[in-house]
Amino acid sequence: MRVRIDKNLCAGNGLCEEYCPTVFKVDIAEGKANIIGLGEAALGKDIASVHQPNQKETWEVPKNLTQCVQNAELACPTMCIYIDQ
Ligand code: SF4
Repeated sequence: MRVRIDKNLCAGNGLCEEYCPTVFKVDIAEGKANIIGLGEAALGKDIASVHQPNQKETWEVPKNLTQCVQNAELACPTMCIYIDQ
């Protein structure tokens, strides 16, 4: 499963972060959600500094995080979280 965010549609309300804080984080200054961590977290890198670099790139979701990513997708009011199975 892979996931991405269309930041043009993101309202920055933080529901995704509430449902799945390991994967999503809102940049307060930008007012948009970013995807953090995932593979980088598994490799022990500083996930706070890892942001989704562009709109089109998708991230492989580790199996233990698929449920919370799906919950975030369902909770997103602007439906800007996209999951590819
Ligand atoms: S739930 Fe959707 S609209 Fe809200 S911050 Fe997350 S991606 Fe953006």
